[in-house]
Amino acid sequence: MLTSIIIHDLKLKSDIIYCTRIRYNLTMSVFLTDMDIAAVKKLVVSLGEPSYRAKQLLDWVYRKLAVSRDEMTDLPLSFRQKLAAAVTPHTLTPIREVKAKDGTVKVLFSLPDGKTVETALMQFSSDGNKHRYTICVSTQVGCPIGCPFCATGQQGFERNLTPGEIIDQVLYFARRLQDKSNGREGEKVDNIVFMGMGEPLANYSAVWQAIEMLNAKDGFGLSARSMTVSTAGLIPGIERLSGEKLQVGLAVSLHAPDDKLRNQLVPVNKKYPLDKLIPACRGYFAQTGRRVSFEYALFDGVNDSIPQAQALADLIRGMNCHVNLISANSTSAQTLRPSPRSRVLVFQQELKNLGINCTLRQSRGQDIDAGCGQLRSRFLTQSK
Ligand code: SAH
Ligand code: SF4
Repeated sequence: MLTSIIIHDLKLKSDIIYCTRIRYNLTMSVFLTDMDIAAVKKLVVSLGEPSYRAKQLLDWVYRKLAVSRDEMTDLPLSFRQKLAAAVTPHTLTPIREVKAKDGTVKVLFSLPDGKTVETALMQFSSDGNKHRYTICVSTQVGCPIGCPFCATGQQGFERNLTPGEIIDQVLYFARRLQDKSNGREGEKVDNIVFMGMGEPLANYSAVWQAIEMLNAKDGFGLSARSMTVSTAGLIPGIERLSGEKLQVGLAVSLHAPDDKLRNQLVPVNKKYPLDKLIPACRGYFAQTGRRVSFEYALFDGVNDSIPQAQALADLIRGMNCHVNLISANSTSAQTLRPSPRSRVLVFQQELKNLGINCTLRQSRGQDIDAGCGQLRSRFLTQSK
């Protein structure tokens, strides 16, 4: 009974979760991390508690990173018991983990309906022994866009993640970084990139609720500047993002300088071609003042020639933007092999000569299938 009241509240407060869970016939459990701040307040009041307890509860979940109500020692036992009957704290169960030589850790999570997604924690050296940590978060199970070089794209699309399933990926790693056992100094998440499995802008409402919660001062408290959404180029989503109050970073996966090639590499280009996509990116900068990044993975003999570097420079000339060249991860497609390093360097030099701001991003975790969706692909193959 109690659960059904709360589900009803959730429907009023946050239609997206309700719809996603009903549409995909997910468990009837209600998850705390699926709730926005207003829904948490409503939950607390519906359980007969004063509304200030909502802030305490949020603090336990998002700042002290509690996994269970037993840790929430300053909340009355009676409240904790009611809470346990009403909501489940977290959505994810880790089922596999791999660690690469470069420190990248990748975890495969099981969702409440048994489907799986993967999340990567990447570490970068900064001053002295300090590291900076970036979490690469998934937003969908599989992906509807179907890029031929991408392991996730080859898995097909199963469903959108809920806000809680997105947020819990971050909280899981934040908890691990914060752990001070074994003589470790507690560390924290520095950046979140929405570059894992799925197309974030095809799951806009859930992704945006997660971003707001990860940013909120009563939530996880990470600055919007430390979050980047990566898209295959869904123009309506880019336009909507341009108008948001929080100004997150935008990365657009370009991978080709002309429509003919991009139609093959990023099939959604047929719907949103370059002569519309590039103005939408210009609009993002004009409205937010945030420089757009273009991702460009180099494939041998496909998109890595000097004329293609020149065409890319022509396409984005005069824009306040940055190109991230990526040495591609190997793919299952015979025709899409990573470019040799020498050609990557020539391509980069050509862009620089043409006045384009660009850096070469090393693919992380090469030895552990850390490319988008690769761990899950291996898991799915082995489970057959
Ligand atoms: N769907 C979004 C975000 C997830 S994919 C997007 O496409 O932007 C995150 C990034 O990984 C994208 O830039 C994508 O093009 C890249 N990617 C996927 N498979 C890759 C591969 N085999 N080699 C290099 N980059 C790859
Ligand atoms: Fe989807 Fe991005 Fe993979 Fe393309 S690269 S299939 S858009 S996850």
